[in-house]
Amino acid sequence: SVLRRIDQVEEDVRAYLTVTRDRALAAARAVDARRQKEEDSGPLAGIPVGLKDNLCTQGVRTTCASRMLENFVPPYNATVVEKLYQAGAVVTGKLNMDEFAMGSTTEYSAFFPTRNPWDLSRVPGGSSGGAAAAVAAGEAIYALGSDTGGSIRQPASFCGVVGMKPTYGLVSRYGLVAFASSLDQVGSLTKDVRDCALVLNAIAGHDPLDSTSVPMEVPDYTSFLTGEMKGKRIGVIKEMFDEGLDPEMAEVVKKGVKKLEELGGIVEECSFPHAEYAIAIYYIIAPAEASSNLARFDGIRYGYRANQEEGKELDLQELYLRTRSEGFGPEVKRRILVGTYALSSGYYDAYYLKALKVRTLIREDYRRLFQNFDLLVSPTAPCLPFPLGEKLDDPIVLYLADVYTVPVNLAGLPAISLPCGFVRGLPVGMQLIAPAFKEGDLLQVAYAFE
Ligand code: GLN
Repeated sequence: SVLRRIDQVEEDVRAYLTVTRDRALAAARAVDARRQKEEDSGPLAGIPVGLKDNLCTQGVRTTCASRMLENFVPPYNATVVEKLYQAGAVVTGKLNMDEFAMGSTTEYSAFFPTRNPWDLSRVPGGSSGGAAAAVAAGEAIYALGSDTGGSIRQPASFCGVVGMKPTYGLVSRYGLVAFASSLDQVGSLTKDVRDCALVLNAIAGHDPLDSTSVPMEVPDYTSFLTGEMKGKRIGVIKEMFDEGLDPEMAEVVKKGVKKLEELGGIVEECSFPHAEYAIAIYYIIAPAEASSNLARFDGIRYGYRANQEEGKELDLQELYLRTRSEGFGPEVKRRILVGTYALSSGYYDAYYLKALKVRTLIREDYRRLFQNFDLLVSPTAPCLPFPLGEKLDDPIVLYLADVYTVPVNLAGLPAISLPCGFVRGLPVGMQLIAPAFKEGDLLQVAYAFE
C-alpha cells in the first residue's frame, strides 16, 4: 500500500531520489515467509521505511543529493541501516535532501526540490525534507534522517510529524556521509511518539565502528510511554518566544506549553543567555568541519570525475579543480569557502577557536538550566514553511531560521519536535530538549502531550 501511495502522490511531492520497489517487495515477502513459519521476524517487521540519501545502503545509490555522488553505490550499509534490517524493516528507497545536508528547504538538492504535502507551493523544510514529506504524505511509515543543526526537527515541524535528534553518541554515525562530525546525529521522523520510541530502540546502542559512539546499556524506550508526566519540571526558554518568532506561531506553542502544565508539568520561564551567539558560531564550526570532511571528494577515489577533454590530459590540480567546481552546488561551495577561511592560519584563533569557546559557554548554559529543569521547551522554528523559491537567494535568512535548533547540536543534547497545532493551515512544531541520554524523559513527556 505504501508503494501504491508513492505511485499516487510522488509526482506532486517528489520526496524520493530512488524508489527501491523490487527490493522492498522482496524484503516484505521474506518477512511474510518468516511469519508463516512462525519465526521471530523482528520488532519492525514488514514496516516500510524511507532513508535519507546520506545513509549508505549496500548496492543502492547514495547520492547525498549531489552531482558529486550521483552514481555512487556504497559497498556497505550504514550501521543504522544494518540495524533496521535486523529489526525486519522493509526499505522503500532513498529520500531527497539538501546537498550534503546543507540547507533548510531541500531546495539545495542538486536534482529537484521536494514539496510540502500540506501545501505543494511550499518547502517541506530541510535538510531531511524528503524524509519529513514522505512520512507526512504516507509514502513511508517512518524515515531516518540526520540532524546537524536542526535537519530532522525543522522539517518535522514544517510537515507536521514527530522528529527526534538523539544525544550525540547514542546512535552510530558509521555510514552516515559526514557533514560536520561533531554535530551530526542520525534520528527518526515518525507519525507519532510511540513509533519514535520503537525506532530508537532499533537504532540506538554502541557501535565499535564509530569511535564517538558511547558504550552503554540502552533502555527499552517504550517503557517510558506511560501517559503520565506529573511533576516534570519544564523550563520555557524565554529568549525563544521573543520578537524573532511569528506571533501567531507563538500563540500556538504557548498553548502547547499550557497543555504541558495541565498534564501536571511544573512550568517556569527560564533564560538561556548565550543563545544569541549560537547561529554565529554554528556557521563557523559546521562549515569548518564540512570543509575538512568534503576534502575527500577529489575526483580520484570515488564519485564524480571531470571529463578529460579529447587529446588533452588534465593535470592533477586541474582535475581537482574541475571536479569540485562541477560536482558541488553553490551552497556546498559557500560552506567550503567559509570553513577553509575560518581554519586558515591567522583566522583560526579569531574565528574557529573563539567559536569553540562560545560552544563551551552554551554547554554551560544548558548544564545550569538542567540543575533546575528536567526538560526545556521552545518552538522548533521561528517561521512557517516558506513558499518554494522565496529564500533561495538569501542564505543568511535561512541560516537565521535555525536559531532554535542549532544550540542543541552544539551541546550534543537530545531533542524532539512535536506537532503542536496549525497557523493558516500549516503545521507548527514544539521542541522539547533533555539532558544527554535522557531520551526516556523526552519520550515520556512527548507521549503524554501527544
Ligand atoms: N540548516 C542547517 C544547515 O544548513 C542544518 C542542517 C542540518 O542539520 N543538516 O546547516
